[in-house]
Amino acid sequence: MIRTFLTAALLASAAPLGAQPLPTPTPAPSSAPLYLPTVPADVAALRDRALNDDHYAWDIVEGLTTEIGQRMGGTEAEARAREWAVAKLKALGFSNVRVERFAMPVWTRGAESAEILAPFPQKLALTAFGNSASTPPGGISGEVVGFDTLADLMAAPDAAVRGKIVFISHAMPRTQDGSGYGFFGGPRRQGPSIASRKGAIAVVVRSIGTDHHRNPHAGSQSFEEGASPIPSAALALPDAEQLQRILKRGKPVSMHLTLVSSVRQGESGNVIAEVPGRDPKAPVLLVGGHLDSWDLGTGAIDDGAGVAITTAAAKHIMDAGRPLRTIRVVWFGAEEMGLYGGMFYKDLHGREPHYAIAESDFGADRIWKVDSKLGTTREAEARALQAALAPLGIVPGAIDKADGSDIGPMIEGGLPAVGLSQDGTHYFDIHHTPDDTLDKIDPEQLRQNVAAWTAMLATLSGGIEPGPKQAKRR
Ligand SMILES: [Zn+2]
Repeated sequence: MIRTFLTAALLASAAPLGAQPLPTPTPAPSSAPLYLPTVPADVAALRDRALNDDHYAWDIVEGLTTEIGQRMGGTEAEARAREWAVAKLKALGFSNVRVERFAMPVWTRGAESAEILAPFPQKLALTAFGNSASTPPGGISGEVVGFDTLADLMAAPDAAVRGKIVFISHAMPRTQDGSGYGFFGGPRRQGPSIASRKGAIAVVVRSIGTDHHRNPHAGSQSFEEGASPIPSAALALPDAEQLQRILKRGKPVSMHLTLVSSVRQGESGNVIAEVPGRDPKAPVLLVGGHLDSWDLGTGAIDDGAGVAITTAAAKHIMDAGRPLRTIRVVWFGAEEMGLYGGMFYKDLHGREPHYAIAESDFGADRIWKVDSKLGTTREAEARALQAALAPLGIVPGAIDKADGSDIGPMIEGGLPAVGLSQDGTHYFDIHHTPDDTLDKIDPEQLRQNVAAWTAMLATLSGGIEPGPKQAKRR
């Protein structure tokens, strides 16, 4: 917008004064309307009660992170977390609480360390990526070859890489919407496969993160076809910058890496619970997050907060009465290791009609924008949703797009979806690090999330009728 006005101003000043009629600029198209519909009083009341009083979300995320802690997909800890979830959801009064199990390969981290052997011997902080190959228990040593970007690695001749430890230093920028994670995450996701195909013996990557603590950021990657697994790991940001400075000195750099891990067959599962609707034939409203976490922290912001926020919102609807449409809460299993739970749910239920699907998996900071993709015939509902959320300081976003990780493939498959965007400015300071712990969650921001999700569910639920319990209370 600013650029359009500037261009018009420059053009105007270049034209001779008074000679021609002044051009009329074409108004820029706007996707956001100036006025939104009035919010029904019951929706506003539910939203505001959640904003002021919610304790369900804190109770869930505090309980899960304290009584279970870390819970990697497919592990015994994740199995305990499923049992915990089932007991919790039943205690909260949800119906049809069940686990839908699936098999998966379970990758487990072992001993890990790194040190520069020459020219300046010293230790570096790193952690293996999920699906990294294991080194022998004694580790491996090799010469380090550094690349600033994934493109530089791709362009390098195989001879420059063969038999060496590849280092990629590509840095991710801090953004509110977390958009850097896609493009700047390439070195983690594709780097190991590219390095392996070129004959590297291992690969270390600057963490896909935005903090400068000596906490490496874990994350999964998978080896593409034709790439045999090699050890792969993330260096903490200060350690990656240290390695860059060492390489810049121009002397050969050698490194010793110990990255022990193992893989076995195991199982995970999706925990599902419902608030039954008055019309059992109506398509369900699906909300959720993922139950599994990385193993370094306790999975508070990723994604204890997400299952807590969405479950709390569904509970607020349950407390108010019976919605027309069933609300289904899903705590997906094994998201971090490759969307196993989301893909399994899609295989099992993806062809059933869903009224809308939505997922909270971007921390616990306040929601700042609502996007939706409910379809061209449901614009009125998309606007009603924007109206219900605006008093929480939530900007009306697009009505033709939404995204998510576990639900991403189902959105691509055409299911209607809503996206409530959390502020990600600080998310990648903590994401997948040992610092992902409960103390990083601000209870007030958590309640704003619950209020937004409650308002979203109330708006799309088809209307809530007070049940016998609520009617008696009046
Ligand atoms: Zn997550």
